[in-house]
Amino acid sequence: MAFELSGEHLIIKETIKDFLQKECSRETARELEKREEIPNNLWSQISDIGFFGLTVPEEYGGEGVNYLGGLITIEELAGISPSLALSFMCSAFTGGGVIVKMGDAQQKEKYLEKLARGELVFTSALAEEEKGLSIDTLKTSVKVEGNELVLNGAKCLVTLAEYANYFIVLANNVSSVENKNSVTLLIVEAGSAGIKINKMKKIGVKAAGAYEIIFKDVRVPEQNILGGKEKLNHGREQYKELLDIQNMCFAALQLGIARGAYEYARNHAKERVQFGQPIIKFDAIKEMLLELAVEIDACQLLVYRAGSLADLDKPFSRESGMAISYSLPLVKKAASQCIQICGGYGYALEYDAQRYLRDAFAVPINGQTSETVNERTADLVGL
Ligand SMILES: Cc1cc2nc3c(=O)[nH]c(=O)nc-3n(C[C@H](O)[C@H](O)[C@H](O)COP(=O)(O)OP(=O)(O)OC[C@H]3O[C@@H](n4cnc5c(N)ncnc54)[C@H](O)[C@@H]3O)c2cc1C
Repeated sequence: MAFELSGEHLIIKETIKDFLQKECSRETARELEKREEIPNNLWSQISDIGFFGLTVPEEYGGEGVNYLGGLITIEELAGISPSLALSFMCSAFTGGGVIVKMGDAQQKEKYLEKLARGELVFTSALAEEEKGLSIDTLKTSVKVEGNELVLNGAKCLVTLAEYANYFIVLANNVSSVENKNSVTLLIVEAGSAGIKINKMKKIGVKAAGAYEIIFKDVRVPEQNILGGKEKLNHGREQYKELLDIQNMCFAALQLGIARGAYEYARNHAKERVQFGQPIIKFDAIKEMLLELAVEIDACQLLVYRAGSLADLDKPFSRESGMAISYSLPLVKKAASQCIQICGGYGYALEYDAQRYLRDAFAVPINGQTSETVNERTADLVGL
């Protein structure tokens, strides 16, 4: 068993670190949160370095599918700007990335080259205001009419919706009695007639804006059913595959936030002098940091294991589940201890510790939420 990253993965890590140092410092990240946006130039810079190609096969102009490389990217970005990491993840993995895994030949041909170049932005529109992510009670519906599907309903808290060119939408096919409650995943063009987008306000990851999307009689061609028209009513299995991808990405995001908070607190503890010595010399502070350092490394191993298995085309549901289940309490613990170690500075809005705390809550209530994710992981582990 190898515990070293390959040369290729080390280069990816260094490239991202270099990008962050030059283009997205802590100050820039703080500024993005104030402005509540990821500016186009930052998005283009990420594209130019080739980050979006990390989930796209070479035949479609990508770097070759490299899940581990993508997870490393999410982790590193999240240490400085969780919003940038979340936005990258939404487009490259849970949006466009699902086309790599589940799209048919035509869809891959149409979307992937532009996804790899960062010219198309994708996001997944799954959750609903009333029902969250309960797949059994989806209110958003489609009806088949000839070779089109008519989409009605609303999705909430969708990241990047205002910037996205396409949404991956989870809907219930209500065309006939037999098809009742038959879930379908669709690729919906954001510019379609009948779509309305409203911005929602939130307490963290503000630069990765959240939006409500309302669909009113939106006509979607049947070739936009994810995987092709024969995949009508196959959304339930596809959604499980999407969750496996989403879970390891969220685990990487939380790992990055936890590590960012830990490094911030450690640096503060080395510099802050109280009672004649840097506070890191006090056992209580040192123990808090040591515990975090060990848990962050353990989390990293779980995340990298899931990504490595995905790259080997081996089953990774269980490993992806374990990685997210481990990262959920860790991110909250790291962010809250960061505040504790930074003392009054941790509580002040001028400094970053409080930002880590606000951002740390984004994932445990995103996607499947802590409680439901753990239920699924317990299932995958065989409990
Ligand atoms: C920052 C952010 C970004 C987001 N981005 C997107 C996006 O891009 N696309 C998208 O589709 N959605 C997105 N969401 C929405 C997210 O998917 C939902 O908030 C999430 O699915 C939870 O649904 P809910 O808010 O309705 O909570 P609810 O499902 O109502 O949950 C409320 C509480 O009940 C608990 N609970 C629910 N069911 C169970 C159960 N079976 N057992 C035990 N406890 C349970 C939950 O864990 C939680 O504690 C985003 C959310 C956030 C915060």
